Amino acid sequence: MVEFCKKCKSMIIPVKKGSSVIMKCRKCGTVMKKGAISMKIIEKPKQSKGAIILEKDDVSLPLIDKECPKCEHTRVYWWLQQTRSADEPPTQFFRCEKCNHVWREYK
Ligand SMILES: [Zn+2]
Ligand SMILES: [Zn+2]
Repeated sequence: MVEFCKKCKSMIIPVKKGSSVIMKCRKCGTVMKKGAISMKIIEKPKQSKGAIILEKDDVSLPLIDKECPKCEHTRVYWWLQQTRSADEPPTQFFRCEKCNHVWREYK
């Protein structure tokens, strides 16, 4: 399906902008209103950014000097996670490098 610019009759092409696609005139840059063209070309976002996946990729978690309350090991992984409503501050989680004990601290 090809559409043409209402102003200059040039071809309208899809232009990727962020995670969505807009329909834009190749010549004069006029942007067509959303919904004017089939949305089939819009790519599905690969992954929602900002989401922290637990239990996976522990290697990429930062290690800090903190004492494990269980085994007294002093190197722990930590991460933040939004566990409750979005308007509340995220909870800080810790995971012991040695015994894998997980605990949380409210900020
Ligand atoms: Zn145009
Ligand atoms: Zn521990």
